[in-house]
Amino acid sequence: MTDLVVFLGPPGAGKGTQALRIASEFNLAHISTGDMLREHVKELTDLGKAAKSLLDEGKLVPDDLVIQMLIERLSYEDCLGGSILDGFPRTLPQAESLERISNKFPVRKVVVFEADKDELIKRILLRGEVSGRSDDTEDSIRVRLEVYQKDTEPLINFYEDKGIVSKINAVGDIDEIYKLISKEF
Ligand code: ADP
Repeated sequence: MTDLVVFLGPPGAGKGTQALRIASEFNLAHISTGDMLREHVKELTDLGKAAKSLLDEGKLVPDDLVIQMLIERLSYEDCLGGSILDGFPRTLPQAESLERISNKFPVRKVVVFEADKDELIKRILLRGEVSGRSDDTEDSIRVRLEVYQKDTEPLINFYEDKGIVSKINAVGDIDEIYKLISKEF
């Protein structure tokens, strides 16, 4: 029951929005490494201080730091009924770190959110206007999309080889997309 479902997709694809809803409907923990890192930045922890400029520039926080943060998070009681990972893994070493704990926390499914680049840029710029997130700027978005293609997209093959990938068209009505995803649970 400590299964993990991974939400994988480019920035702006709506992973966070959908993860929140799915987690509350199916009683799962919602683990967003982006949210956790932003909290560290806000609280001025050592990790937050190390991560701040990387986040703003749209670059990834080093694997060892994020892996340690995630593993610690999985030890909380709310993960006993299963968790959605939103924003982790983002690199091959991160995916391999999950392999090492797979007897306790197996990755049951990987939901891949698909959307084209123009749509993503449009959405993130719009989000930036309301969220005030300091990384929702044009320069940072460009870097994040490049990082996604280079470091994260290869994970789709990694999980496809295991036969656990479901691809979702992430462009369209939020409720329709939600229905598509909930069929996977
Ligand atoms: P988005 O998917 O819109 O880029 P997130 O909130 O998931 O937003 O992530 C924001 C930032 O947090 C990333 O650009 C990156 O700097 C950092 N981050 C989040 N998750 C990870 C991760 N698993 N590994 C490294 N850095 C991460």
